[in-house]
Amino acid sequence: MGSGDPRRNIPRTDTLLSLPAVNEARNRLSEHVIRHQLDAVLHSARRGDLAPEAIEAAFTEALRTRRPHSMTPVFNATGVVVHTNLGRAPLSAAAKAAVADAADYVDVELDLTSGTRSKRGVTTRRALLAACPAAEDALVVNNGAAALVLATTAFAAGREVIISRGEMIEIGAGFRLTDLIASTGAVLREVGTTNRTHLHDYADALGDRTGCILKVHPSNYRVEGFTAGVDVAQLAPLAAERGVPLIVDLGSGLLAPDSALPDEPDATTALSAGADLTTASGDKLLGGPQAGIMLGRKQIIEKLAKHPLARAVRVDKLTLAALEATVTAGQVPVVDALHADPAHLRERTERLAESVGGDVVEHDGRVGGGGAPGVPLQGWALRLPEAVASTLRLGTPAILPRVHDAACLIDLRCIPESADADVAAAVSRAVAAHR
Ligand SMILES: *Cc1c(COP(=O)(O)O)cnc(C)c1O
Repeated sequence: MGSGDPRRNIPRTDTLLSLPAVNEARNRLSEHVIRHQLDAVLHSARRGDLAPEAIEAAFTEALRTRRPHSMTPVFNATGVVVHTNLGRAPLSAAAKAAVADAADYVDVELDLTSGTRSKRGVTTRRALLAACPAAEDALVVNNGAAALVLATTAFAAGREVIISRGEMIEIGAGFRLTDLIASTGAVLREVGTTNRTHLHDYADALGDRTGCILKVHPSNYRVEGFTAGVDVAQLAPLAAERGVPLIVDLGSGLLAPDSALPDEPDATTALSAGADLTTASGDKLLGGPQAGIMLGRKQIIEKLAKHPLARAVRVDKLTLAALEATVTAGQVPVVDALHADPAHLRERTERLAESVGGDVVEHDGRVGGGGAPGVPLQGWALRLPEAVASTLRLGTPAILPRVHDAACLIDLRCIPESADADVAAAVSRAVAAHR
């Protein structure tokens, strides 16, 4: 480094760390993060990308803008209700409040009356049973996949799981349910064909090696045409006669039938028809936190709860709290979005168009998240030039529109009406940036 090298003027580390901005940042950031920000600034100065006299300001700015967490809230303007890339279900207000309460010390495993240990998650279990009286008992685990792994491990490890070839699905990102089941040491005993499976196929496969019969709701595709399947009511007597548990993977998590989604299976119907156990996700149509919800016969749930693997797929207190509140309080955003009134969506979209321009067009929403494939949710969207889309995504607040047919489509279905003014302001800025 020559004497004329401006890098000689780089301030000392301890000088920079004694700046008032650092003291302020220590209220918000860990020491290692502050050091990391400093190292990054010094690195660009040493490389010659930053003048020595600009270091202090750059470091101060880096500290000021560094947030302790970086997930960005996004307005979902796609019309896809359970949007996997946006974290599936947004929580209800009650569930958010429950998470905040549960973040402190809570009585998740304590009976405050006696001051002694209690069973974990009893209130969540009670809430689920109140919402689904067809179930004798309930168990909550990490997610739908964990529920399936626990069930097949407990009932069929080293034995056979009988499953229809029409129900061997891939649930996304290359994850196949069949691989998941095989990973437990259970052997898949495939019956029937892709389009047709009959009761005698199941009957022929049942034997000494059978651990359970598994029915899976093919939640993300449909087989149409010359098809036949065996429903729970038909299978239940056969399973009961042979003393084999009948497990139904519902996928989407409806506890009771929903008239808007007539083809979607639900726990109440499956259990009433004779299923011994249903498994489902908490963050799809139920609209709660990520969870695996297991509902069924007392003996079955008891066996699952006692299995060593149950401890490995146990949910945390935040999930238990959010799930209980979701089921108990109602006002669930996913449910509201599924049942949004098209006429009202049109009014809101027209109001948005009045303030920002663009065309109001018919636009069907989707259930998403691998649920109810092909079911259109009638609605509307604001159509803007495609270029607006990336400006919306990168704006504050961030808005994710749908890009389709060289247009940017803004569907208000999954946006709370209370946010319409904020969304209109953000869209207006984005549109102006492209004038
Ligand atoms: C989504 C889904 C799963 C997996 O549930 P996760 O909660 O994502 O683990 C399993 N089975 C079916 C039928 C599904 O739709």
